[in-house]
Amino acid sequence: MSEELFKKLISHTKKYGFIFQSSEIYDGLSAVYDYGPNGVELKNNIKEYWWKSMVQLHDNIVGLDAAIFMHPSTWKASGHVDAFNDPLIDNKDSKKRYRADVLIEDHISGIEAKIEKEVSKAKKRFGDQFDEQKFRSEHPQVLKYTEQIEDINTRMNTAIASGQLNDLKTLIEELGIVDPVSGSRNWTDVRQFNLMFNTQLGNISGEEGKLYLRPETAQGIFVNFLNVQKTTRQKIPFGIAQIGKAFRNEIVARQFIFRMREFEQMEMQYFVKPGDEMNWYHYWKEHRMKWHLSLNADPEKLRFHDHDNLAHYANAAVDVQFAFPFGFKELEGIHSRTDFDLKNHQELSGKKLQYFDNDTNENFIPFVIETSIGVDRMFLSILSNAYHEEMVADASGGEAERVVLRIPAQLAPVKAAVLPLVKNKEELTDKAQEIFDKLKLFFNIQYDDKDTIGRRYRRQDAIGTPYCITVDFQSLEDNAVTVRERDSLEQVRMSIDELIPYLDKRTNMAYLLAELKG
Ligand code: ATP
Repeated sequence: MSEELFKKLISHTKKYGFIFQSSEIYDGLSAVYDYGPNGVELKNNIKEYWWKSMVQLHDNIVGLDAAIFMHPSTWKASGHVDAFNDPLIDNKDSKKRYRADVLIEDHISGIEAKIEKEVSKAKKRFGDQFDEQKFRSEHPQVLKYTEQIEDINTRMNTAIASGQLNDLKTLIEELGIVDPVSGSRNWTDVRQFNLMFNTQLGNISGEEGKLYLRPETAQGIFVNFLNVQKTTRQKIPFGIAQIGKAFRNEIVARQFIFRMREFEQMEMQYFVKPGDEMNWYHYWKEHRMKWHLSLNADPEKLRFHDHDNLAHYANAAVDVQFAFPFGFKELEGIHSRTDFDLKNHQELSGKKLQYFDNDTNENFIPFVIETSIGVDRMFLSILSNAYHEEMVADASGGEAERVVLRIPAQLAPVKAAVLPLVKNKEELTDKAQEIFDKLKLFFNIQYDDKDTIGRRYRRQDAIGTPYCITVDFQSLEDNAVTVRERDSLEQVRMSIDELIPYLDKRTNMAYLLAELKG
């Protein structure tokens, strides 16, 4: 998807009530968004599909809804107070602040673009004869660029891993990176900046009363690990799933809902026997990819990406990346978190967080595999996959442009629209209303009798409604309606009595879950 198309997608989401900028009347709050009437439906459906695929499909995964506020020691134990930092650099002329690593990554993207330019030039020159793989691995200029990228990446990752912030600054200076706004090279030193938002407990002043807005939902699961295990009598391996808000004071707040300051996570922590973690890590890697593919995502748009720098808590980590309109980026993380969190909570709280294995009569701290996905990023991936502009035949035999959201029917905000052919004939609108009243008990549907039928189809296409049910004069005699399918535009005539099973088969999540279960 081009940048141009991405801009159109963003304005489409506003025009059709999916996403609004927060506090828009005050010119908005950057990197904070509100979900409109269609947005909240789609978002709830994404959450429901994830929740059911975790909690309902697995006997050994249970749910939790922990509070956003937690005891401040939680964030000490988890490492967030000391290590949840981004390396920041300010430009002294523009007074703008940047993430040092992102400035360097953008520089790398510039070199990558040069490689692509060489490739497309050669493609044009050699036509059918062109062997792209050979060109990429042999062309001297391309090889030089590739080497440059590798060198920059190594230096950046070493500097970050060792905390040598001066080396990051040196790298920025040596690469001649300029402020994208002012073009200036007048940089400050690189400093660490903690991403947690904090606030204050009402009755305790100073540091003592400092509270954080949680930057991830996972810790609510860890501190409740034994409560859940004991009350549900789960045996290892078992998982705890949670959906909830998280907050990060992101510096690079751009790319729409990809990087927000307030967002929502769907996380599942799977507790396993130490030593078994790599088996479960691979299991969850495959299982999560299957989940994404079950939503008709183009397999070309999904890939795994191993972490170059492991987080302080992990012994293995991989991202599921999606081809967002601005390139392949992290959609979900799968991390083998070892016993890091439980061990630290046990140490700092002085309370045992151990599992007693009845079979072996042993106590131990379990290891953890985590799957963590942002609801908002999932939402953006669904929409960017779904957005299409195309020409279709119109009612008068000509062609008309339509924007259609090909959202998987099970996730679509509205499952069907009931449309009387004309609005000023009471027999027709009564009949349509009667169908609407019956169907709305089972599905989220709309009734629409304004404008021509063509325009009403366009409106439903634009919000991704998979089925339009047209009630015409014939319906009054044969008790049948025409059902139009959004993507194929195929129209089928069926009895009104068949509508519920027809829609159920195509929009009920149960069928998607059945496929996932295999
Ligand atoms: P990134 O490298 O893009 O900052 P991360 O590695 O810090 O992401 P995790 O801490 O692994 O992200 O969080 C798990 C998931 O939460 C991510 O895969 C992503 O889908 C989501 N997420 C993280 N930060 C944000 C954010 N600022 N806005 C929206 N979603 C986010």
